[in-house]
Amino acid sequence: MDRLIMHVDMDAFFASVEQLDHKEYRGKPLIVGGIGGRGVVSTCSYEARKFGVHSAMPTAKAMKLCPQGIFIRGNYPRYSEVSQQIFDIFDRYSPLIEPLSIDEAFLDISGMEHLMEGPLQYAMKLKQEIKEKTGIVASVGIAPNKFLAKIASDLDKPDGLVVVDRDKVQEFLDPLPVRRIWGVGAKTAMVMDRLRIRTIADLRKMTYEELHKTFGDKTASHLFMLAQGKDERPVAPRGRAKSIGNEVTFGEDLQTAEDALQVLLELSVKVGWRLRKAGFKAKTVQLKLRTRDFTTYTRQKQLCEASNFDNDIYTAIKELFKHLNITNNIRLLGVSTTGFGEMEAVSLFHDEKKDKLYQAIDDINNKFGKLGVTRGSLLKK
Ligand SMILES: [Mg+2]
Repeated sequence: MDRLIMHVDMDAFFASVEQLDHKEYRGKPLIVGGIGGRGVVSTCSYEARKFGVHSAMPTAKAMKLCPQGIFIRGNYPRYSEVSQQIFDIFDRYSPLIEPLSIDEAFLDISGMEHLMEGPLQYAMKLKQEIKEKTGIVASVGIAPNKFLAKIASDLDKPDGLVVVDRDKVQEFLDPLPVRRIWGVGAKTAMVMDRLRIRTIADLRKMTYEELHKTFGDKTASHLFMLAQGKDERPVAPRGRAKSIGNEVTFGEDLQTAEDALQVLLELSVKVGWRLRKAGFKAKTVQLKLRTRDFTTYTRQKQLCEASNFDNDIYTAIKELFKHLNITNNIRLLGVSTTGFGEMEAVSLFHDEKKDKLYQAIDDINNKFGKLGVTRGSLLKK
């Protein structure tokens, strides 16, 4: 399947949080990091970068380059709080997120761009939401794979947004210096320089055999693939998500059970799709309902068998909803799932036919945008 990957990276993250929290730091060269004898810069503001300061530089050197700079140790609990807010936003843009660090992640958005006018608009919306909710500026790269997306997000920093079209990959890569390739450090770059390989275009002209002679098997195939813009690594969520869910607040309160059930069905389908995409089966399904006066009810139910099928989720949700017996002045509805096991933990009652059906539905949805297809029988029930 053709992938579409987004790499999102906050600009000067720690320094930006500090400048948000402390007016007096704004517009000033600010350096966050270790301050003792062996301290190292972890992030610095763009004002400090003008002096040649960069992350991973010894603080002592940064002090020489930028004596007028403001040097602080930083407030890590605060950064992780902002990071959490940002990852919560990511959650609503993709079911498949791979965090790379506190301020950086890959999002698999294959098929999702159809929800907007296109990938560019999707990224703009995400950037805007991060800015509005946290005050932080993000740079985004969108490309057919991780390698290209990561390069793209870095090209136009700060406040960058670069989309690499599938048919312009080579044009995009060719002029870039080989150092842009992940894994090519100073040492490899020096060896390449001797071979007159300076740009990715130079590297691409090398045959695999030539590369193999100099760099050995593993590095050669890595370089050979990347020089052509090929990278098959999937976005791999790290750790385990605690819950997957969706909720919606209505502009106008819902007044009938019928309307509410229709929304709950749509939410169940969405959640099932996200579970399958993330490779999870859920044991617990939860209904959330908020009424006009902001009273919020949550009810949950254990499934007999962990599942990621839309109708298992919906059947449980419907039961919870009927039991709760609130059918008017509904302001918000939510469906969420927890208690995940891996897909590999296939039960004795594993239903292969159903798996295939959902695989087919998901393939279509991935191609034409989320929820292009819903099973008719679900709607009738
Ligand atoms: Mg960053």
